[in-house]
Amino acid sequence: MVVSAPGTGGGWRAQALCRRVDPEWFFPPRGGSLREARQVCGRCPVRAECLRYALDYSIRHGLWGGLSERERGPLRRAVATQRRAAA
Ligand code: SF4
Repeated sequence: MVVSAPGTGGGWRAQALCRRVDPEWFFPPRGGSLREARQVCGRCPVRAECLRYALDYSIRHGLWGGLSERERGPLRRAVATQRRAAA
């Protein structure tokens, strides 16, 4: 599986607002600020698609769909529970 940053590639990524800014904003070192990235995500038209992608691929690093790794945790666990129930 190849997972790339949200601001690269085609499909929904073509509309990603993060294509226009520094990708490092979305993948800061531990303890780094996500303030600028959150502002960009807040205006992004593909925020839902981005978050879905991060959950589908269990991406743990970075800001996706406006949510940090820690903030995605409960959603990621809910998706995993749904998958187990559907199997
Ligand atoms: S929600 Fe944020 S990280 Fe995702 S595509 Fe939009 S700007 Fe990029």
